[in-house]
Amino acid sequence: MLDIAITGAGPVGLTLARLLLPYTSHSTSTPTISITVFEKDTSPTSRLSVGGTLDLHPKTGLAAIQACNLWDEFSKHARFEGEEIQFCDRNGFCYIHQIEIPKTLQADHARPEIDRVRLMEVLLGSTPEGIIQWGKQVKEVKRAESDDKWSLVLGDGSVTKPFDLVVGADGAWSKVRKALTDVEPSFSGICSVSGTIDQDSAGASWEHISNMVGKGSNFAFSYGKSMVGQRMGDGSLKIGFDQKREPAWLQSLDEKYKSDDDALKRALLEEYKDWVPEFQRWIIASKQLWTSSLYELPVGHRYEHQKGIVLIGDSAHLATPFAGEGVNAGMRDALDLAAAIESSIKENQDLDQLIADFEESMFVRTKVVMQDTMMNKDGMFAHDAPYSLLANFVGVAAREFGYDLDKGWISWVPLRSAARGVFWTMGSYGAVSRRVKDALIGQKPLRLE
Ligand SMILES: Cc1cc2nc3c(=O)[nH]c(=O)nc-3n(C[C@H](O)[C@H](O)[C@H](O)COP(=O)(O)OP(=O)(O)OC[C@H]3O[C@@H](n4cnc5c(N)ncnc54)[C@H](O)[C@@H]3O)c2cc1C
Repeated sequence: MLDIAITGAGPVGLTLARLLLPYTSHSTSTPTISITVFEKDTSPTSRLSVGGTLDLHPKTGLAAIQACNLWDEFSKHARFEGEEIQFCDRNGFCYIHQIEIPKTLQADHARPEIDRVRLMEVLLGSTPEGIIQWGKQVKEVKRAESDDKWSLVLGDGSVTKPFDLVVGADGAWSKVRKALTDVEPSFSGICSVSGTIDQDSAGASWEHISNMVGKGSNFAFSYGKSMVGQRMGDGSLKIGFDQKREPAWLQSLDEKYKSDDDALKRALLEEYKDWVPEFQRWIIASKQLWTSSLYELPVGHRYEHQKGIVLIGDSAHLATPFAGEGVNAGMRDALDLAAAIESSIKENQDLDQLIADFEESMFVRTKVVMQDTMMNKDGMFAHDAPYSLLANFVGVAAREFGYDLDKGWISWVPLRSAARGVFWTMGSYGAVSRRVKDALIGQKPLRLE
């Protein structure tokens, strides 16, 4: 029997547990695998209020959901209409407004949204009781003295039995990662204030703000700052005000305005004073504000293979959320690692070699994801945002359809520069229109009374 410990009952750890379930005593009378998930949260509901919305992608998140046989449950909460997306700037000018993916492309390119909380419910609901050990914080992973197995040191000081395989799915600040590498996440340069807007908090502005976001998301970027609004399953909006700043700036906001949403909103209005009133209204209408600094591992992060221990999800390739790929890349890790473990059982192949191969392919695959994320982050918060960001999308879209703009004959066609020129022209028109409108109606920045 292969004895596996998974640290972390996040979406990635749970996907792996679900995929391996058919080989455990919960599904068969001749089990070949035993799984224990160690989770520091004390219960399944500890963090169910946390999190925004995630879009799952066909070859990664959605493929994992299908492999888990959870498509029907997932579909009850998935919002295909949530793919509506707009990219705007501080002048309120929208460069791209995609209402829905054309029907002919849906099978391969659909990216339905699901609230993170609902995704967790779907995964938790299909994980039999007893597999997850709640309230078990892993402090350290230690190699057992006698063999290649690993034990976990828990928060209360106790040490578990040795496991054949420890899978680190314990997220950004993984303790399992420490057994494999000294590399730690570093500050990404981006600070974030997040909140919620609903009918109650927005009052008379609700309809207008709600229409700006539509059924999906509205992303606006200018001069190192962004505002993002995303529709949640209950109709409310998750809001993010992200900025390229030092953590000390965020710390001073925290110190000055702790637990005082109105004071924080006044500070944000000052930060966004050159944005159109339509966007400033988002600040005034928001509630339940909280701050965070975003961290990331270096692009192409990798570690030396060691027998009996492996990382998946954010613990292996933490990146900022600016490509919407984190959970997808992690669920694909779970899918590929489960396939490797399955092969070792069914075809009697060497598990250690299969895991080394899995790691290599994960490093190659997630390097691309991390590069895209870094490119988006740089484009979103650049001085000329959103022009470079939108121009880069041309390359990403081309790749979806099998073209690499940096290779072959197509690399001679200056598609990105042409796109940048088009977006610059559109943006200049938007800026001039705004100046004229402001002058005509005597527009002033909004204030919080
Ligand atoms: C603001 C924001 C927006 C995002 N938006 C998107 C998006 O739109 N699309 C997308 O694909 N991704 C998005 N992401 C990224 C996505 O949320 C992560 O990539 C994903 O949650 C990673 O899953 P995971 O299971 O690897 O880690 P996590 O979700 O972090 O789960 C780790 C689990 O391990 C547990 N744990 C941690 N430490 C220990 C320990 N020492 N012992 C035991 N248990 C432990 C935690 O409690 C948690 O349950 C976003 C992230 C952020 C911050």
